[in-house]
Amino acid sequence: CITVGVLALQGAFSEHVQLLRAAAANTSSAPTFRFMEVRTPEQLQQCDGLIIPGGESTTMSLVAARSNILGPLREFVKVKRRPTWGTCAGLILLAESANRTKKGGQDLIGGLDVRVNRNHFGRQTESFQANLHLPFLESTKETSKNDPYRCVFIRAPVVEKILPSNKALGIQEGENERADTVVAPSKTPVDELAKQELEREVEIMATLSTNAEPLQENQKHAHAGAEDIIAVRQGNVFGCSFHPELTDDARIHVWWLGEVVKAVERRQQFELAHRTK
Ligand code: GLN
Repeated sequence: CITVGVLALQGAFSEHVQLLRAAAANTSSAPTFRFMEVRTPEQLQQCDGLIIPGGESTTMSLVAARSNILGPLREFVKVKRRPTWGTCAGLILLAESANRTKKGGQDLIGGLDVRVNRNHFGRQTESFQANLHLPFLESTKETSKNDPYRCVFIRAPVVEKILPSNKALGIQEGENERADTVVAPSKTPVDELAKQELEREVEIMATLSTNAEPLQENQKHAHAGAEDIIAVRQGNVFGCSFHPELTDDARIHVWWLGEVVKAVERRQQFELAHRTK
């Protein structure tokens, strides 16, 4: 049984749990999944993978700090290298760097060597939807795989810069410090696997101009064709600017659960190989 958690401190966590359930029902050769809302380090400990939902990232990180789960979250993502997916505010928290807003900085979890620009498209009233063909979904076996995905952007961040992937980056003016790095207590076999994950580079998974065909009139939006990066992956960490949890389309959840299964299998094989040596 694979346990997938959704960080439930603030934001659209119950929507994610619902879509995970729908996705699991869609996954044919399903291992059994257990989904749980995560509010404590003890609950996080039980998880093989984690989703950090959309919401308000400053609030979420304040609540996380107060719940003493910020450190365990960094360990989960950056030391154990467990599959973690952040949507919108979740993407911000998983970035190593985020620009400041009027309200000031925030503690990040980190894991993605990118800098995000919060509220890139402006205020709430500038929220928009875009029907995009997301290339990574083409690998799922869903029958509706060719339909565009309705991406909902609400005060959304974008990835404005890919950072050199090691922690030696200097801090520039107007930038938050990179999220604290937890030093891995390496040496054990599982940590070797985590180290491999650590060496992976940032992959751009989608930009706003990601489209297999020209936009229809009813799909047009002010930002159509922009090159803004709206989804990235680096090893175990995946983040997107938009809110799949605010649609009833479970295709990204299906794809991501597949990635979680692969990661769990990799870990099991690795542990087995080292045990039988
Ligand atoms: N702009 C929000 C933030 O900075 C994120 C918005 C969202 O998750 N819809 O946290």
